Amino acid sequence: MPSGVVAHTGVGGLTLGGGMGWLSRTAGLTIDNLVSAEVVLADGRVVRSCPDEEPELFWAIRGGGGNFGVVTEFEFRLHEVGPMIEFGLLFWGRDQAADALRTLRQEIPDLPRSLNVIIAAMNAPPAPFVPEQHHFREGFAALLVGFAGAEEHASAAARLRDAVPPLFEHAGPMPYVALQQMLDEANRWGQHYYEKSTYVDDITDPVVDALVDHLHRRTSPMSVALIYRLDQAFSEAGELDTAFGGTRSPQYAVFGVAASPTPDLLAADRDWSRSLWAALQPYSKGIGTYVNAMTEYEEQRVRAAYGDAKYERLARAKAVYDPRNVFRRNINIRPAGR
Ligand SMILES: Cc1cc2nc3c(=O)[nH]c(=O)nc-3n(C[C@H](O)[C@H](O)[C@H](O)COP(=O)(O)OP(=O)(O)OC[C@H]3O[C@@H](n4cnc5c(N)ncnc54)[C@H](O)[C@@H]3O)c2cc1C
Repeated sequence: MPSGVVAHTGVGGLTLGGGMGWLSRTAGLTIDNLVSAEVVLADGRVVRSCPDEEPELFWAIRGGGGNFGVVTEFEFRLHEVGPMIEFGLLFWGRDQAADALRTLRQEIPDLPRSLNVIIAAMNAPPAPFVPEQHHFREGFAALLVGFAGAEEHASAAARLRDAVPPLFEHAGPMPYVALQQMLDEANRWGQHYYEKSTYVDDITDPVVDALVDHLHRRTSPMSVALIYRLDQAFSEAGELDTAFGGTRSPQYAVFGVAASPTPDLLAADRDWSRSLWAALQPYSKGIGTYVNAMTEYEEQRVRAAYGDAKYERLARAKAVYDPRNVFRRNINIRPAGR
């Protein structure tokens, strides 16, 4: 089932807020693959929720977060993936970054749905596949994942490589479960994190400038900006099919993830994350944020995340299922009429 890109992320919050990752282009969001859920409501009743039972609750929990009850069981639609998939990483240094991002902007929308790319503004890791002179170098990586065999993956990698030769690259088959765990260590428990996200329609030139400009403003080498592509299967779901906080048009979700081993270092990169978010706002879709990447609860941004119509429908569902706002220590939706 489609999930996030880190294996130790909880299925509860990830699903209830949306759930985007490697399979978003191929199979949609996690919520697009939810078949039913068992929910303990605020009044203690245990209900099953699916298109035919408690349909409004089923709509609300697919994007509306933990506002409506405690989900004790999720039933998902599964997809045949792997067991082996194709993985590739191409890394461009800072002075190549703008050209690389423009190439990615051109290539990504035309990729078949069996390929996906996540772009990362990061420091090259001191990994065995990275030449020593590039360890910790700042730059942009394209993480290219293929679910339909080596040929299709290799030709997409070749188009990127031919347009802007990377400083280094790494490619090969790997088990899908290894891909799912590949970023776990970089996002390990016990570090300090802060993130803010926004959506942009395209990696336009001003967006390229904002991303490149913010690359060297990070102080912690663990901090990254991640850019997820959302289109194909993601865009096949109707705008009102689920309560997802965002539109379904083809777009990119941009995450400024500040991460550090110490709180004082985090403070600097929290500012970096906020600054990247602010720099992208003129080019964002007004919606502004993905609720699962909202580290801080900001009431006015919750409404903006859903848009007025969806927020009001969620508030009406909240008034039915949790009128006293028992479930409020979350990205809170206030019950309508209160
Ligand atoms: C390292 C890392 C990587 C991530 N990568 C991705 C990614 O690739 N894609 C993506 O979409 N998101 C990603 N996220 C964001 C993630 O979706 C959210 O942080 C999500 O809230 C995690 O869910 P959780 O259950 O682990 O969190 P928790 O902190 O346990 O829960 C968060 C909220 O979810 C609700 N909740 C959780 N479980 C239940 C339940 N069973 N019933 C009712 N409500 C519940 C509650 O409101 C709770 O306050 C990532 C987060 C981290 C920390």
